[in-house]
Amino acid sequence: MQASRRHFMIIAVSLASTAMLSDESWADAPVLSESDSTAQALGYKTDASHVDKSKYPKYETGQVCTNCQLYQGKPGSANGPCPIYGGKLVNAKGWCSAYVKKA
Ligand code: SF4
Repeated sequence: MQASRRHFMIIAVSLASTAMLSDESWADAPVLSESDSTAQALGYKTDASHVDKSKYPKYETGQVCTNCQLYQGKPGSANGPCPIYGGKLVNAKGWCSAYVKKA
């Protein structure tokens, strides 16, 4: 399977299998690890400054989970759920290649 198709399939399956979480339900959600298989496939880093720019040339300085359209954390919180990873908590300062700039 080509990398871009594989990437798309991971995102599509993740979004389809994740319901939007209420504020109360995500407090106990597990924290996403960089070693998670989906996280590795999408280049997730808990600190966006550690993104491999040669592997992910679309990454631009300043892109972090808190300004990604998919991030569901509260403003000011250290982390928040991300539907790409089944609602696991991603770091507010993290990044992955599924990043979509907030409108
Ligand atoms: Fe989720 Fe967006 Fe952060 Fe990727 S960049 S982990 S899609 S919130």
